[in-house]
Amino acid sequence: MWESIQSMCLHVVFILFTILIYQVFFNEREEKRKRIRSKFFLFMLIILIFTMSQPVYYFDIYKYDFKAVAIILSFLYGGKRAGFAAFLALLVIGAFTDQKLLILFGNYTVFCLLLLPVTSLYHRYRIKGKVILISLFYMMIPITRGIFLQIKGDNRQTLFELSSSLIILATLIAIIYLIENMNEQIEMKQELIRTEKMNVVSQLAASVAHEIRNPMTSVRGFMQLMQKEELTKEQQLYISISIEELDRAQEIINQYLALAKPQTNQYETIDLTSVIQQSIDVMHSYAILNSIQITQQVEPSLEIEGLKLEIQQVLINIIKNAIEAIKSEGEIWISAAKNSNGFISIKIKDNGVGLTEDQLKKLGSPYYSTKEKGTGLGLTVCHQIVKQMGGQIMIKSELKKGTCFTLNLPSKK
Ligand code: ADP
Ligand code: MG
Repeated sequence: MWESIQSMCLHVVFILFTILIYQVFFNEREEKRKRIRSKFFLFMLIILIFTMSQPVYYFDIYKYDFKAVAIILSFLYGGKRAGFAAFLALLVIGAFTDQKLLILFGNYTVFCLLLLPVTSLYHRYRIKGKVILISLFYMMIPITRGIFLQIKGDNRQTLFELSSSLIILATLIAIIYLIENMNEQIEMKQELIRTEKMNVVSQLAASVAHEIRNPMTSVRGFMQLMQKEELTKEQQLYISISIEELDRAQEIINQYLALAKPQTNQYETIDLTSVIQQSIDVMHSYAILNSIQITQQVEPSLEIEGLKLEIQQVLINIIKNAIEAIKSEGEIWISAAKNSNGFISIKIKDNGVGLTEDQLKKLGSPYYSTKEKGTGLGLTVCHQIVKQMGGQIMIKSELKKGTCFTLNLPSKK
């Protein structure tokens, strides 16, 4: 038995080493969105070939190997196609190394079919949930095998079966931790590079934007003067369009500057209830223009720490989006209340067009806009401001039904 366990350990080392090589040298370059992550599959193939051609023997008749690990990993990290490719590879290798091909085929067909729902569940959990899910799933194999052996009255390998399953499970868990941790690091690195790029670009652009604003203001002034002259109807129209477009450009620049502005201002205590009221008042005429009713339910004397203008900008941006999502005839519900956990929840709900899941993911990334004249900066600014205040924005949406923005802001102690 000792010898068998030793050779099992050899498998463990081989598998861990293979995965490590993949993670270190190939993972970062392989795109996640690819339909088959071919390099990952290739590494799984190497593991399958090794573990199936050099199985661990116990009493010279019982064979143990790690093919289940390779199959599980192919499904989890390679995608469904890689999983089934690994399954086919398993059958091909099995044809050369295993005498009981039919049993292998039967067992692993069931195994793969059960793995499918587990795979889709898997990616929803955090690392601990993942480990628990896979452990439960994997234990299915030794348990069914154990029951089967008990029925056959074969007790000789029970102990070894138990210890080998534990070794395999431990390997699997170690690999999951290894992959998840390294993936997390890679993501963090990419995020860091991205924000660093954004920083430089936004600093440069902020100074340019600032320079553009001044000449634009004088152009707008002269346009307005010109409007007062005796002009033909057409000329009047051209000028008013020009002014509108200038205003639009101005708004883009303002939003942009808000985004890139260095944050040095001191926070102060603000009366959130009245800020919400003011924001609603500001947007009131825009709402009426689109025949939209705003209903509100705001608790009195809510207080937070922050900058009044900033939080007002957040509220106006979100309410404006809600109005634009409805287009015409609809209702917006605004509520604010203090939670038991020290946060103030502001909800802004509309019954507008709503969003698809895909759109929901892109929401808040700079320049993402579905509007013809949109800037796609409004929500980016909101996210940044709220994050800085130690709060959070959550968005729920259903296509054609409406969208609900929830702002959670830390209440003043
Ligand atoms: P903009 O309003 O200039 O397009 P935003 O950053 O404010 O930029 O919003 C980005 C996009 O998010 C919008 O173009 C719109 O598609 C979507 N969006 C925002 N709020 C809502 C909402 N309440 N309902 C539906 N879609 C919304
Ligand atoms: Mg907007």
